[in-house]
Amino acid sequence: MPDKITVAGVSVDTRHWIGGERVASAGTFADHSPIDGSALGEIARGGPAEAEAAVAAARDAFPEWAATPRTERARLLHAIADGVEKRIEELAIVETTDNGALLRSHRRGVIPRVAHNFRFFADWLLSLDHEDFETRGHTNHVSWDPAGPCVLITPWNAPLMLATWKVAPALAAGNTVVLKPAEWSPLTASLLADIAAEAGLPAGVLNVVQGYGSEIGDALTSHPDVRRISFTGSVPTAKRIAESAAAQLTPLSLELGGKSPLLVFADADLELAVDLAVEQYDNAGQVCLAGTRLLVEETVAEEFTRRFVEKATALEQGDPRDETTDIGPNIHPRQLEKIDGFVRRAVAAGARTVIGGHRKDGQYYAPTLLTDVAQDSEIVQEEVFGPVLTLQTFAGEDEAVRLANDTRFGLAATVVTGDRDRAERVTARLVAGTVWVNCFFVRDLQAPFGGSRQSGVGREGGTWSFDFYCDLKNTVTAPKGWNQDHG
Ligand code: NAD
Repeated sequence: MPDKITVAGVSVDTRHWIGGERVASAGTFADHSPIDGSALGEIARGGPAEAEAAVAAARDAFPEWAATPRTERARLLHAIADGVEKRIEELAIVETTDNGALLRSHRRGVIPRVAHNFRFFADWLLSLDHEDFETRGHTNHVSWDPAGPCVLITPWNAPLMLATWKVAPALAAGNTVVLKPAEWSPLTASLLADIAAEAGLPAGVLNVVQGYGSEIGDALTSHPDVRRISFTGSVPTAKRIAESAAAQLTPLSLELGGKSPLLVFADADLELAVDLAVEQYDNAGQVCLAGTRLLVEETVAEEFTRRFVEKATALEQGDPRDETTDIGPNIHPRQLEKIDGFVRRAVAAGARTVIGGHRKDGQYYAPTLLTDVAQDSEIVQEEVFGPVLTLQTFAGEDEAVRLANDTRFGLAATVVTGDRDRAERVTARLVAGTVWVNCFFVRDLQAPFGGSRQSGVGREGGTWSFDFYCDLKNTVTAPKGWNQDHG
């Protein structure tokens, strides 16, 4: 297999990055572009041996990195951010080619945010402090000690963005990292390794291993030298990882799926509500936070639906590299099968297709809206992860909240209302890690981010990330007992 492939004019190393060196594997797996199904290349297919080597490299590099002064760690993180900013165009086109999300979003939003992730956690590190406090004359001093090697496992829907939400705080906190990106979108993690090396990050501090989760995952998550596991992905995989991590009681952060509601009250600005609803097709519906359950007050449901259909059918679907495209392809033929299966079973169970409901040429699925769906049906209860929304109506706040909270998930919710008091009342009753009122997808890195119920365990962002990636220590010092010579 060639060590490097050229993707949209950018050279990408297909090997692992372990201990500051490129390492090949005997086996490979094929990576395809969802845009047209074309083969991009063969990627190193890691297994237990590569997991062992990567964790060993992270373990060996840990003491020196943990002892590196905060200012120097922060400087290196800013240098990585500089490297990302220099390569925005390259990272954007490689990411789009690999996972099919819109190039214009990568270029203007996502990749600049990747750089911001490093800058934000570098700056936060420098401000990380607690005031000492006294207990009966004794001083309490709280410190954030680096925990050790961290295994970070990420999905394909926003590969570099989600990886760096973990890599940046883990490194800032003084930990070393083994990153395992998803096998359907492995390329930008390899570019990140290049950028980190160019920035001068010491060997072994960031390691990247490629491969199928089923083959390399367990060796990473059950490893006794791993001190933290942070995972973003699906609920079934999270359960397997939790079982594997239980062997060593390794602390876990889990960012999982959702089936988030978008509530539209009759007093809402209906134009805004429709815009927010149509936005849920973003990334061809492959967004964990997507408000895929539209819950609309019955008195405005007809008008809402009419305006929604008008807007949604005007969306441009096609090549994600085109500036005018609104919806690109879905990631993989298997994902497409899954989406279509959900829709067909819903229709067979009595759902009515308002728009879409079918595949298009290639790996594209028509934006779909289904109504006449039962609350306990699969299409309302399970995450589709495709451009498929359901619409249900409600009468009054109590029913709205009951429907909104009635799934096993609790990742996010959106409330659209013109009444401030109602917004407060409803928000207080919703079970969700994030609630947006009259907006969607606004995320500040200093806010806690994560899910309730089966949408996750723990929170990422600001101080919550540092709390997770550190062993917090409280040192209690008595006022007496000092050797007089030393004061
Ligand atoms: P997935 O669970 O199939 O895979 C995620 C990662 O886990 C991949 O890197 C995969 O290789 C790895 N993996 C698979 N089996 C493993 C094992 N046994 N041990 C260790 N690692 C293993 O998820 P996906 O299909 O890549 O991503 C889609 C899911 O991710 C959706 O459910 C979505 O909602 C969720 N997601 C959540 C968030 C969030 O922040 N809450 C963000 C994005 C995506």
